[in-house]
Amino acid sequence: MAFLSFRAWLEHLRETDRLVDVEVEVSLRYEVAAIAKRLDGRKAVMFHRPAGSSVPVASGLVSQRRWIAEALGCAPDDLVHRFREACEQPMPVAHVSEGDAPVYQRVQTEGIDLLKTLPIPTHHEHDAGPYVTAGLVIVRDPATRKQNVAIHRLQVTGPDRMGVLLLPRHTLHLFRQAEAAGRPLECAVAIGVDPATLIASQASTPFGVDELEIASALRRQPLPVVRCRTVDVDVPAEAEIVIEGRILPHVREPEGPFGEFPRYYGPRSDKHVIEVTAVSMRDDPVYHTIVPAGYEHLLLGGIPREASLFETVRQLVPTVRAVHMTPGGSCRYHAVIAIRKTEEGQGKNAILAAFANSFDIKHVVVVDEDVDIYNPEEVEWAIATRFQADRDLVLVEQTQGSKLDPSTDDGLGSKMGLDCTVPLNADPFRFRRITIPGFGEMDWSRYGLTDSFEGKE
Ligand code: MN
Repeated sequence: MAFLSFRAWLEHLRETDRLVDVEVEVSLRYEVAAIAKRLDGRKAVMFHRPAGSSVPVASGLVSQRRWIAEALGCAPDDLVHRFREACEQPMPVAHVSEGDAPVYQRVQTEGIDLLKTLPIPTHHEHDAGPYVTAGLVIVRDPATRKQNVAIHRLQVTGPDRMGVLLLPRHTLHLFRQAEAAGRPLECAVAIGVDPATLIASQASTPFGVDELEIASALRRQPLPVVRCRTVDVDVPAEAEIVIEGRILPHVREPEGPFGEFPRYYGPRSDKHVIEVTAVSMRDDPVYHTIVPAGYEHLLLGGIPREASLFETVRQLVPTVRAVHMTPGGSCRYHAVIAIRKTEEGQGKNAILAAFANSFDIKHVVVVDEDVDIYNPEEVEWAIATRFQADRDLVLVEQTQGSKLDPSTDDGLGSKMGLDCTVPLNADPFRFRRITIPGFGEMDWSRYGLTDSFEGKE
């Protein structure tokens, strides 16, 4: 069973002892982020009394891979494939009237003051101020009426003003068209959406694919959407909060610095600007904040990237078994790929495919399918015992990579691949993993060993 709203998933986490309710008053400046980070990857958290606001704040709702699978109603091993299917076969959304849209229970179009209305935290030491970090920015392509959804960092710079970082992807493409015509680009920012819509917003798809239709496919039922009050944009009707506005043409204002996913700061520079035209919310909204570089942030980026990477590798190596974007690599820079090698050289083919999949991918480790790619110790063991640098290393110098990787020269850097697959002609006993007969079938309770083990499941 999938969880079809933000609050249904939040409630499920509470019922299964995975949500910490913080009842004491907390400051939005650093304190919310500190507590969420303390619980990162283990528990979600809800702050009932953020100082200066009557709206509670929740964070860490999808901070484990298996939670995301559970929220979508699938097994953890199927998660990447469920995401691929949804990208390949999107499903239309369902339009509902304003009366059926909880997010329009309260609407404000005048006297807007974002920081008075919403509990927007400041997360890291050198952040330029409060940032909306879990806002799905939705815009429409006037040519096709298709929408695009992406999460952009949003700095609150005035009562009804936000700075927005638009990287050279779909939102920026649509903005440039509007700006060339001298028009603003209308947008809506949805905060507090269901887990499927949240992760669908991170899909790596061609231009023209509506991420809300991917959300419908992930949910296996159409996502209810409603037309905004002041802009021609459709938003998830069951979102907690929606901010409507316009990205202004020919206006750029300072934004940043901001602590980003690689655990470094993105710099201050002139960025695009959103002028807010309305703020809508449920009668009892919950504000969602994503602590940058936390597991929630990393996994939301990582799983859609894994879906895309799997597909690219499969084109070259049909026997690819699984791919993992590791948290240590910020779920962007490091890929571990398990293959069942049938032809010599396929380990290096998988490395080349990974480099081709995304310029962000910097280091690739390819292993045989007996290695648990979700366990860093197992991966290191494969590097230690199945890899020889003179024979198994792929190095590509001076390519374009991530500009947020501070070891690059404005993105210019090198790629490395480690082929840790066992040679097909090797003596099998040389690479026979030691095992203890019966270990997997022991009845541990006979020995009083009833504690559960961490790690491999
Ligand atoms: Mn898109």
